[in-house]
Amino acid sequence: MSQPLRLTRRLGDVVRAGHPWVFSDAVTIPKGARTGDVVDLVDVDGAWVARGTIDVDTPLTFRSWTTRRDEVVDAALVSARVAAARDLRRDVLPHDVSGYRLVHGENDYVPGLHCDVFAGVASIRSDGPLGAAWEQRYVAAVREAIRPRAVVARNRAIDDGAARLVHGTLPDELVFREGGRRFEVDVLEGQKTGFFVDQRENRDRVASISRGKSVLNAFAYTGGFSVAAALAGARGVTTLDISRPAVDAAVRNFALNGLAADTHELVVADAFDYLSALVDRGERRFDVIVLDPPSFAPRRSAIAKGTAAYRALNEMAIRALPVGGWLATASCSSHIRGDAFVAIVAEAAQRAGRQLAVAGVWGAGPDHPRRLGFADGDYLDFVLARVQA
Ligand code: SAH
Repeated sequence: MSQPLRLTRRLGDVVRAGHPWVFSDAVTIPKGARTGDVVDLVDVDGAWVARGTIDVDTPLTFRSWTTRRDEVVDAALVSARVAAARDLRRDVLPHDVSGYRLVHGENDYVPGLHCDVFAGVASIRSDGPLGAAWEQRYVAAVREAIRPRAVVARNRAIDDGAARLVHGTLPDELVFREGGRRFEVDVLEGQKTGFFVDQRENRDRVASISRGKSVLNAFAYTGGFSVAAALAGARGVTTLDISRPAVDAAVRNFALNGLAADTHELVVADAFDYLSALVDRGERRFDVIVLDPPSFAPRRSAIAKGTAAYRALNEMAIRALPVGGWLATASCSSHIRGDAFVAIVAEAAQRAGRQLAVAGVWGAGPDHPRRLGFADGDYLDFVLARVQA
C-alpha cells in the first residue's frame, strides 16, 4: 500500500461519520501515488481515519471505502458490497419492476459505481479516472451478483464516455417493466444509463392526479411521465423535449403500452421558450405541468445561475396553470435540494402571484438509498403542488 494520505484540515470526524469524500484542498498527496491506488487516510495529528481509493487526476482526491481498520479494500470487498446492494433491492422492489438502480455509488458503499439494470441488462456508469482504474472489478462484481445477460459500461475517461458492450449480447429491443408501465431503453445511445429509474414512484404520483386531465410533460426525455399520465386516464398528454430522438422514443413507448397516438401531442422545443409563449398568450390549457429538467447547478459555482433558472422555469409553469392545476417539479441537482428547492418554488409562486398547496415532497425511490452522514450524495427532489388561487 502507498504512503498514507494526510489531512491538512480536521475532517477526520466527518469521514468517520460517513462522508466518503475528501477534496484536494484538504490533503497532502504522497509522492508516487497513482489513481486507483488503495490508501489509508490519516488525520492532521496522524490518527487513522479510513481506507479508500485515491484519484490524483481530479479534485476529488480520496473516496472512503471503510472506516474499519481491519477491512481490506480489494475486489472481494467490491463483490461483497454489490451483493449487499442487490439484497437491499430484493427487499424493497416489487416483482413487477425490472428496471432499477442496482448500485448507487457511495450511497451503497461502492465509491465511483452507478449501475442500473433493465430486464437483465446491466448499465454501468463509473466516475472518471478512478472509475476507469476500477472498472474491471466493478463489472466482475455486478456479473457475480446478478448474472446479467449483458453489461454495458461508460466512463468519461474512456472513449469520450461512449457506452461499450463489455459482456454478453444485447437484444434487438430492450424493454423493461415499471409496474404496469413498459419502456424501451437504449443502453448504448441513451442519456446517463439509458433511463431515469429514479423518478419511478414520482411517475406513480403524477399518475394519481392525471385522470381526465390535460398534461404537459416538459423535459420529457423518452416520455416516462407521459406514459404514466396516459395510462392513468389523462385526457391528453403533450410530450416536450429539446431532443428529437427522445421524443421519437416517447412515441414508441406510447405504442408499447397500447396507448392511442391521437391523444399524444409531440413538441420538439426548448421548454423555456414554449412556456414563455404559453404565458404570453395567457393560455392555460394544461391542468398538470411536469418539469424534470437536467441539473441546472451541476457545480457549486453554478448555484446562483441554477437557482435563477429553476425560479424562472417554475414561475412560468405556475403562471400557465389554471386554479386547480397541478405542478410536478423536480430538481436533480445535489447543490440545490431539499428546503432550498422548495423555497425556490415558493418564490416562483409568489412572483406569479399565485397560492400553492404542496401535497408532498419526495426524492428518488428506495433503490436509491441514502448513506447517513452524506447529505451531498442526495440529489433529487420532487415537489407536487396544487394551485389553490
Ligand atoms: N423526465 C424524464 C427525464 C428528463 S432528463 C424521465 O422521467 O425519463 C432531462 C431532459 O431534458 C433530457 O431529455 C433533455 O434532452 C431535456 N432538455 C434539456 N434541456 C432542455 C430544454 N431547454 N428544453 C426542453 N428539454 C430539454
